[in-house]
Amino acid sequence: MENLIILGTGIAGCTAAVYAARANLKPLLISGPEDGGQLTLTTDVENFPGFPEGVKGPELVQLCKKQAERFGTVFMVDIVEHCVKKDNLFELKLVGGDLLQTKALIVATGASARWLGIPSEEKYKGRGVTTCATCDGAFFKDKEVVVIGGGDSAMEESTFLTKFASKVTIVHRKDSFRASKIMQERALKNPKIKVVWNSEIAEIIGDGKKVNGVKLKDTTNGAISDFKCDGVFLAIGHVPNTAFLKGIIDVDELGYIRADKNMHTNVEGLFAAGDVQDKRFRQAITAAGSGCMAAMEAEKYLAERGVH
Ligand SMILES: Cc1cc2nc3c(=O)[nH]c(=O)nc-3n(C[C@H](O)[C@H](O)[C@H](O)COP(=O)(O)OP(=O)(O)OC[C@H]3O[C@@H](n4cnc5c(N)ncnc54)[C@H](O)[C@@H]3O)c2cc1C
Repeated sequence: MENLIILGTGIAGCTAAVYAARANLKPLLISGPEDGGQLTLTTDVENFPGFPEGVKGPELVQLCKKQAERFGTVFMVDIVEHCVKKDNLFELKLVGGDLLQTKALIVATGASARWLGIPSEEKYKGRGVTTCATCDGAFFKDKEVVVIGGGDSAMEESTFLTKFASKVTIVHRKDSFRASKIMQERALKNPKIKVVWNSEIAEIIGDGKKVNGVKLKDTTNGAISDFKCDGVFLAIGHVPNTAFLKGIIDVDELGYIRADKNMHTNVEGLFAAGDVQDKRFRQAITAAGSGCMAAMEAEKYLAERGVH
């Protein structure tokens, strides 16, 4: 029986573990399928406070893990498959076969960006191909970039990228956007933004180190053409990792956990932190901040039940 299990070794889960471990709760931190979370997918992080020269994403999350370990966090490599609440305890079934029980639970399982799923994308991830304009836009000053997508986030990211890039081209596989009218108008009236309709990315090309173009496939006739660019921003959505909580927790229409401003969910003793409950900010610092809040609230919840 555990006092507190934390799901996810991204920056939210690791920060929650630092706080919970320092409160002597000996939390158990379960890695999930992507140890270290989304920060392991990027290179330079220049906007996390305390690193004036920037820090590599994987290094940042490793440091946080080490900090959690120092205060007594126990780590486990496995994935939660199913979760139920029985008699005020959470019962977790793991893919590896274990069945764990805990008095309190923090879910920090993140939201995975959708990728195109083509081999060249894998090769250039973090070398010009990214899913986060807020995070990586500044690396494309005076460069030409493409944005893939047709929803509100594609419009928002394109508009944001015009602060840095000399040219932003939205590539969309249909002949109209599904984004709201106001977001479309804002993007389309920006002189730096152009649109290539009825096209999808067939391949990302580069010199082996970084992107220098894409091959576009016309969705109406299959014709392939080359398009020069320095960066590819995917804005085709995120999937919050909440499937294992189905039926027990309140989620919004996109599957994000509905947490209140103190990281409480509709289930007593179950707290949420990081991108799994945040479709708006999706930043390392906000994920870490909510991890801290979830751990402090979990500590209070356990103390009220005699666990110190
Ligand atoms: C390419 C890229 C670049 C970025 N650059 C920056 C940047 O420069 N600055 C910045 O502030 N932010 C950046 N971000 C955003 C930042 O990485 C995220 O906001 C942050 O990592 C969210 O942290 P998290 O802990 O909530 O979730 P995640 O990092 O997504 O971690 C989720 C964790 O949950 C685990 N998990 C999932 N399912 C299960 C399960 N069923 N059971 C157990 N565990 C599970 C995963 O294995 C993982 O360990 C970037 C993101 C990307 C993709």
